[in-house]
Amino acid sequence: MTPTASEAADLFRELTGSAPERVWSAPGRANLIGEHTDYNEGFVLPFAIEYRTFAAVGRRADGMIRVVSTFDRTPVEVAIVELPALFGGSPGEAVHSGSVPEWAAYPLGVAWAALAADGSALAKIPGVDIALASDVPIGAGLSSSAAIEGATVGALDDLWELGLTQLDMAKIGRIAENQAVGAPTGIMDQAASIMGQNDAATFLDCRTLETQPVDLGFAREGLRVLVIDTRVSHSHSTGGYGERRASCELGARQMGVPALRDLTTGDLDRARQVLDGVTFRRVAHIVTENQRVLDTVDTLRAEGPRAIGGLLVASHVSMRDDFEISVPELDTAVTAALESGAIGARMTGGGFGGSAIALVERNRVDETKAIVAEAFERAGFGAPHQFTVAPSHGVLRDA
Ligand code: ADP
Ligand code: MG
Repeated sequence: MTPTASEAADLFRELTGSAPERVWSAPGRANLIGEHTDYNEGFVLPFAIEYRTFAAVGRRADGMIRVVSTFDRTPVEVAIVELPALFGGSPGEAVHSGSVPEWAAYPLGVAWAALAADGSALAKIPGVDIALASDVPIGAGLSSSAAIEGATVGALDDLWELGLTQLDMAKIGRIAENQAVGAPTGIMDQAASIMGQNDAATFLDCRTLETQPVDLGFAREGLRVLVIDTRVSHSHSTGGYGERRASCELGARQMGVPALRDLTTGDLDRARQVLDGVTFRRVAHIVTENQRVLDTVDTLRAEGPRAIGGLLVASHVSMRDDFEISVPELDTAVTAALESGAIGARMTGGGFGGSAIALVERNRVDETKAIVAEAFERAGFGAPHQFTVAPSHGVLRDA
């Protein structure tokens, strides 16, 4: 077992006095390309990373569910039959009630959503203890939330014999996050975390929810993904995010399509005539970004990972100039990484802060880090946090 898996097992022993029956884990994720395309029913290409959240679990006879985490060592306990009341009823109407700490709404919300999907009589479900430990950085844009959801749903599917598919698990994680916690996210993070495969990305069609693994070949080709966390908080991004969503909806409506997914680059000339300048640029980003995701998949398959650099850079430029969600720190990170010889680089995540990623030759990672750090210093920015991530496997049973 890895150190973090052992931490989860140790915490379980502390809580219950006995060893866990099972340990399950799920990873965080990074998005290679496809930004703000999810809520436009388009395409994304994220990959699971090697940082993981572990859930050590065991059944109990009394119908209670108890969760504890190294993140918060005070156990939270609820009767399984009380879960619907805790989250306000059936999926579709629930919202985090504030009667449990927010972090506990992730695992308890997963239990609630899994049982709602299963339809079994709640009184017949065995109780469970869940001890969580994680090495996914929290709030760095690597989706520690999908990791905690994935580890929990994998473990509960096993203990409760729910027979869930991977897509079911991703949907349950999303319901927990949207409705039990109250965070309005798409399904990308959960799908990436649950379905990840070594050295591969998950190509997701956000309209049909069809997924396909796409070989990345980064490990095989000696490439690394460097994450450059600018440490610019994106917590104030809510306004900008909502505004971008509204622009996309307006653009789709004025172009007469259900979602921007239904436009292609061939429609952009007409869009320029129909839409106001700002809305046109927002639409142009989404339409070209969808095409770039498709092109990235094709390029990876036909030519391999060294050929996708231009697409990553074009994605960044589109977010900087057309979608206007970059910040000077992100632009500096991308420019410096490219100057250092990175194959490609782009901001990743919702924007207004957060992280950039750069695709770098293994033996040049230290040089890129140094050049990025220097550029930040020169610009008078706070030092970025830089580390590599490798495309890794999704949810699995560890013990
Ligand atoms: P991100 O997913 O980008 O890391 P989020 O705000 O979506 O950030 O999710 C972070 C929240 O998820 C934390 O504030 C906490 O409530 C919960 N969380 C994540 N990992 C754990 C963990 N190991 N133990 C307890 N809560 C966790
Ligand atoms: Mg999250």
